[in-house]
Amino acid sequence: MWNPDMSSSEMKIQHLGVAVGSIDEALAFWRDGLGLELKEIEIVEDQGVRVAMLPIGESRIELLEATGEETPVGKFIAKRGPGIHHLCVEVSDIEAKLSELKARGVRLIDESPRIGAGGALVAFVHPAGTGGVLIELTQRGTGNH
Ligand code: ZN
Repeated sequence: MWNPDMSSSEMKIQHLGVAVGSIDEALAFWRDGLGLELKEIEIVEDQGVRVAMLPIGESRIELLEATGEETPVGKFIAKRGPGIHHLCVEVSDIEAKLSELKARGVRLIDESPRIGAGGALVAFVHPAGTGGVLIELTQRGTGNH
């Protein structure tokens, strides 16, 4: 049977999440310096984060600014400082990928998908199971981005 996730070339790095203290200040480098375009800024209430989206090729950089200290990004910055926060990999079937990872004993933060920025289906894989990288999975074709 054809496995939709069999070919890794079907997958892509959908975005890279960068934790910043202030989106306005970070734009001085990412937009004004590097030259990326700021497409939009969205607040994801569920995660307590403001997200600035800057497309780059088929992918995008997401600047993540916490809306408070007791949020995932707020805690991350308090502990590790600003910097690369997570890598988002787009898959064709997020439920199947989560089941596969779970079956392999990989620690998941989200056992089932939830709604992330832009209305996309997303789920996070714990860095303990990936060699230290927080991985976000998203399903192709979901959300409005
Ligand atoms: Zn993300």
